[in-house]
Amino acid sequence: MITNDRMIAFIDSFDKGNTPFLEEIEKEARAAEIPVIRPATQSLLRFLMAARRPMRILEVGTAVGFSALLMSEYAPEGAHVTTIEKYEKRILEARKNFKRGGREERITLLEGDAAGVLEGLRGSYDFIFMDAAKGQYIRFLPHVLRLLAPDGMLVSDNVLQDGDVLESRFAVTRRNRTIHARMREYLYALTHEPGLETVILPAGDGVSLTVRKQKPVEAWRLEKKKLVEEYRRANRTALRGQVVCAGSSLMEMFPVEEWAKELGEGVPAVYNRGVGGYTTTDLLSVLDICVLDLAPAKVFINIGTNDLNNEQETVAEIMDRYEEILNIIERELPETVIYLMAYYPVNYEAASEEMKPCLRIRTNERIAQANQEVEKLARRHGLRYIDLNEPLRDERGRLKAEYTIEGMHIRPEGYRAIFPEFMAYVRE
Ligand code: SAM
Repeated sequence: MITNDRMIAFIDSFDKGNTPFLEEIEKEARAAEIPVIRPATQSLLRFLMAARRPMRILEVGTAVGFSALLMSEYAPEGAHVTTIEKYEKRILEARKNFKRGGREERITLLEGDAAGVLEGLRGSYDFIFMDAAKGQYIRFLPHVLRLLAPDGMLVSDNVLQDGDVLESRFAVTRRNRTIHARMREYLYALTHEPGLETVILPAGDGVSLTVRKQKPVEAWRLEKKKLVEEYRRANRTALRGQVVCAGSSLMEMFPVEEWAKELGEGVPAVYNRGVGGYTTTDLLSVLDICVLDLAPAKVFINIGTNDLNNEQETVAEIMDRYEEILNIIERELPETVIYLMAYYPVNYEAASEEMKPCLRIRTNERIAQANQEVEKLARRHGLRYIDLNEPLRDERGRLKAEYTIEGMHIRPEGYRAIFPEFMAYVRE
């Protein structure tokens, strides 16, 4: 035992246990002396399923399927577990258990030696549970890391080998010496590999938790992907023929959806599908989710301000992509009325130090030039160009200092000032 028995008994006394079906599988497995994860590891897995909500789970070492069933039970609805086992007798038992639990659709059992099976796997998993032969972990590691999603977590069980890993190699039996050396190597790799962050916990037989650290840009991309995924989900129950707002952060931060709802009956539903940081190229790639799927009666667009931050981009190039967006909407939704919104002004003098370099490029002059082009684009397509900026401007044409967060983004008070005119367009 790694931690002392009284401590373990105390911690386990709080364990609320698993579902009756899991309890039964565990009892049977223990009676047949089939290894299954210990209570501490079980509660850790239950916790991680709730905390990380993984949808694609991979397990190395099924045995008779207890931990696969446990993860499947406590993961979010729609999650899928893929698990690998090489021992035929156990494969048969595991398949029976998956069937008994009605989980055949949600658990895929891959048969064979994990080294070969892992090599053939593609795609990525957001949660990987390593629970096979301890001496093999280091061999599986390159594949496991290849398969681990950018924000994924790898959980490895039995890493402290009942405390053996602490001992000098001469203190462990000859048979265990190779495992001992390989496990130390494995833990060293997990804790020293650049891009990984690992914690080793003395729970159960020793468990390590590893996450792949993301580069800031990857983290940003992933966050945006999640938001777009949320929109996709929300679209399923959203009404068609209403109003959609598409664009970047300046749209996303406009609480137009909530405020329109507060106005009550008789106001169409307004769906804000703005995505912070998105450019015209980004919007093009998610146009189905952010606009088309909702088949709105009206769509308000404010996209391109992030493109303006890029010095290398000419306004003409930005407008070409903007036009591509319009062409698609016009083709797919010929009935939809499209409003092109003027870009909001900025305020360099009121800007934070971090924002200033960006506002040296995205100047009010560049914004004014871009707005002229948006207006021309609207005219060419016979669309509405709307400029709500009047209440936002100070006497020098800048975004009013009291309305801005850091020179570019707008506070709720600023949005409040333009909301009535915006709603007039919604209602017309
Ligand atoms: N995760 C299971 C649970 O808690 O219900 C227990 C797994 S048991 C500790 C380890 C399993 O990994 C054994 O059934 C063993 O046959 C399997 N195994 C070991 N080495 C393997 C390998 N190289 N490829 C596939 N399976 C392997």
